[in-house]
Amino acid sequence: MAPPQRILFPPENIRMDWQQSQRAGAGLHNLDNTCYLNAVLQCLTYTPPLANYLLSREHSQSCRLHGFCMMCRMEAHVNKVLHSSGSVIQPWVITSVLTKIGEHFELGMQEDAHEFLRFTVSAMQGACLSGFSDLDISSQSTTVVHQIFGGFLRSRVTCLSCKAVSDSYEAFLDVPLDIKAASSVTAALEDFVGPEQLDGENCFHCSQCDQMAAASKSFTIHRVPRVLTLCLKRFEGLTGRKISKDVEYPEYLDLRPYTSQTAGEPLLYSLYAVLVHSGASCHGGHYFCYVKASNGLWYEMDDTSVVLHDINKVLRQQAYLLFYVR
Ligand SMILES: [Zn+2]
Ligand SMILES: [Zn+2]
Repeated sequence: MAPPQRILFPPENIRMDWQQSQRAGAGLHNLDNTCYLNAVLQCLTYTPPLANYLLSREHSQSCRLHGFCMMCRMEAHVNKVLHSSGSVIQPWVITSVLTKIGEHFELGMQEDAHEFLRFTVSAMQGACLSGFSDLDISSQSTTVVHQIFGGFLRSRVTCLSCKAVSDSYEAFLDVPLDIKAASSVTAALEDFVGPEQLDGENCFHCSQCDQMAAASKSFTIHRVPRVLTLCLKRFEGLTGRKISKDVEYPEYLDLRPYTSQTAGEPLLYSLYAVLVHSGASCHGGHYFCYVKASNGLWYEMDDTSVVLHDINKVLRQQAYLLFYVR
């Protein structure tokens, strides 16, 4: 992978550990079906490197964006939440720009939390990239947002007749996991990196032996993110029907076995947020989450309600999104 031509945010300025220790901040009013948005915002608010950056207000001090800026919005929201412990606030800083985050989002409609997360992080990334044009992919991944949430996947295709290998890389902001066959996140990650056979109609053209050949294709995490977001694919494509099954997930996860370089020190991640969907399909139901505050304690965040819980309850949920930090 080509090195970046430009570094937009110095990596040494990303602080992974909380800079202060306090109990959980405010709960969030549900403004007409906004539980999906509340749950996602709460997970982002307790993402230590993002919160540290937003609490410093470094972004708004140098922001040159006129009009809508998702980083300024998140900075205002996170500061308000974390400085209003014990109370409940209205997330209007975010809901008032819902259609700017994603054109199709409509206040009052139930939306998919994972989709909202994707659009929110992309809008933050967009704000960090504004003012820069013609940046190469590598440089685009040096924003503070991409350095926190982003990683790179390697896709490797191996020709089965001549053994030639061809690699390509793509940036990711989260890892989607198929859970139909897996009963744990580690099993789903093994499936994710497991080889897939390309043959018959799916043969690929090998440039080495210059023919259509059967091949094997596999993904590995090539550059690990500082914050790993896993999405358990609970909703079936067309119907939106939900796969309601228990999928185990650990408090500490070693990502090393799923990377391009499986030899080496463990790459340990620690769980800090779990987003849960309750209900039978993606068209309805309710979202809430569990987050670990800077005091190290876990809280259940369910719209206005903020309640202390222990880790054993956190680990026994039908999780939809899992957030881990290095
Ligand atoms: Zn801004
Ligand atoms: Zn070949």
